[in-house]
Amino acid sequence: MFPEYDIIVVGAGHAGCEAAAAAAKMGSKVLLATMNMNTIAQMSCNPAMGGVAKGQIVREIDALGGMSGIITDQTMIQFRMLNKSKGPAMWSPRAQSDRMRFAEAWRLSLEQTENVDFWQEMVTGIETEGGKAVGIRTSLGITIRGKAVILTNGTFLNGIIHIGEKQMGGGRSAEKSAKGITEQLVELGFEAGRMKTGTPPRVDGRSLDYSKMEEQFGDENPSKFSYTDTQPLAQQRSCYITYTNPEVHDILKTGFEKSPMFQGRIQGLGPRYCPSIEDKINRFADRDRHQIFVEPEGWNTVEVYVNGFSSSLPEHVQYEALRKIEGFENAKMFRPGYAIEYDFFPPTQLNLTLETKPVENLYFAGQINGTTGYEEAACQGLMAAINAHNKINGKEPFVLKRSEAYIGVLIDDLVNKGTDEPYRMFTSRAEHRILLRQDNADIRLTRRGYELGLAEESRLKAVEKKVAETAEIIAYLNNKPLEPGDINSKLEELGSAPITEKQRAGQLIKRPNVEIEDIAKAVPAIGEYLSKFRKESVEQAGISVKYETYIEKEYAMAAKMSELENYNIKGKINYRDIPALSKEAKEKLLKVEPETIGQASRISGVSPADISVLMVYLGK
Ligand code: FAD
Repeated sequence: MFPEYDIIVVGAGHAGCEAAAAAAKMGSKVLLATMNMNTIAQMSCNPAMGGVAKGQIVREIDALGGMSGIITDQTMIQFRMLNKSKGPAMWSPRAQSDRMRFAEAWRLSLEQTENVDFWQEMVTGIETEGGKAVGIRTSLGITIRGKAVILTNGTFLNGIIHIGEKQMGGGRSAEKSAKGITEQLVELGFEAGRMKTGTPPRVDGRSLDYSKMEEQFGDENPSKFSYTDTQPLAQQRSCYITYTNPEVHDILKTGFEKSPMFQGRIQGLGPRYCPSIEDKINRFADRDRHQIFVEPEGWNTVEVYVNGFSSSLPEHVQYEALRKIEGFENAKMFRPGYAIEYDFFPPTQLNLTLETKPVENLYFAGQINGTTGYEEAACQGLMAAINAHNKINGKEPFVLKRSEAYIGVLIDDLVNKGTDEPYRMFTSRAEHRILLRQDNADIRLTRRGYELGLAEESRLKAVEKKVAETAEIIAYLNNKPLEPGDINSKLEELGSAPITEKQRAGQLIKRPNVEIEDIAKAVPAIGEYLSKFRKESVEQAGISVKYETYIEKEYAMAAKMSELENYNIKGKINYRDIPALSKEAKEKLLKVEPETIGQASRISGVSPADISVLMVYLGK
């Protein structure tokens, strides 16, 4: 009934969808096996993509040839570039998505991807031979063979849903939990752990009084995620902001004695930066209000997502408290919030390719690795697929450095440091964030994606054009002289000191409050010259000129680190035989088995002194 597949992807969440699409595009014959084909690419929690650091990840996925950016552009209802008042390293695209259309667009896109087959059923185990994954087995007792298997089970492994004192097995609201895989993997020598996450109630938008809330518009000139020719939004839907108050908090407190979290029924650690409303009230007892973002779930649906009100208190407590929020006095609840506990596998059991150490040709991606978030999951799916495809075709592993991509930072952190609470990306996790901007992900990664056989030639051509145009604009700005009379009134308007003699346009752009657009507006000849180029090339040139010194410094720093980074040590060192290594370093190095000195240096518990010992041992 089934052919032998090249790659079997288990689970069609954000990781699974990217994995299946990427492996198929690269030429693998793919089976996407998932419990329910009606929930392909379901957004389990908030209907939104991107945000701080996560938006950069979506841009990187897109630059490599992945699909999340395109699907988001096709189905978003609002777009905002967050942190625009800060430097460009912090600019982060965020889209409010149409939840149903997002899932539908992903499914249709996968259906149209050559080389992707589907199978709807619960996968209960993997087939192994001689320490290698060779397929899967399902709840119907079917065995399907594949040269590599990618597990992307999300929150489904032995998932337990909690609402107040009620508990039920489930991988997500109204969906079964997945059994069998954890137990089998533990038998095969894997270590498993438990985490939890939660989601807020959804309400009927027709029952809300938006006049009592603050309207939050999308950007006036919205941008988009994909570097391809997807279109920015012509129309957008607004979100709204309201607040909890002491009355809301008092009602919520009446449910604390039935809270699964406070009563110890939930053991797993939850996402630190996405706490439940009861957690916020408890931890910040002095605050008399918390912000609530009221977010539409789509263009046409009346369902509304109550962002900031995640809860696992009894449903009637959630309902009563909700109705004390300004604008929610008549709110009708569609679905209660809940918490979910699930199994994950500490990611120190992975290689940097996301292949597991205990079982060859088995890859893990997404929430199963202890991460949280669609974007974090999607990029792991993409990377696991690239590496699985390369491995079975005898090609080189594909690993991104920390200085090349947020994706590199994420995987490096997971594999080397591990995580005991749901891991989400932040700009602060990236030491080279000035290089890892949302505006240059295509310049950083599209050639790599093309060489992998993933990004289309049209993408490469587009980025080559952008690079050439950017260089041309930079040369022009660095040569274009401006007289005091051309620019001083603009400088005064911007609060910047006037010039007393001729200065190059590029020099002026380096000033803190002078932007390329200001110069273009003040000097018609420059404005006219720049209007010949695409917006992104002009933006890129402006950033490159303005931050030139910082960027160069950061490249130099990254190059220095990369000398160490690339020095291969795997299999060359017997850590047990080096007495000068600290006990903790020895244990960690033996556990992680780092591939390079750079990787070793980032293992928590391995100090710079331990690295010096290793360098001496290696004669470096
Ligand atoms: P998922 O999207 O969970 O997809 C897993 C897929 O695998 C599903 O299609 C499922 O049907 C399938 N599957 C699982 N097991 C099997 C099996 N044995 N056989 C066949 N198919 C299988 N993220 C945030 O960033 N912030 C939040 O606040 C947040 N809150 C959340 C609240 C809840 C209640 C839930 C459920 C998730 C929340 N998330 C949150 C997490 C976010 O949804 C995930 O990080 C993201 O969806 C993970 O993607 P994934 O592809 O790893 O897994």
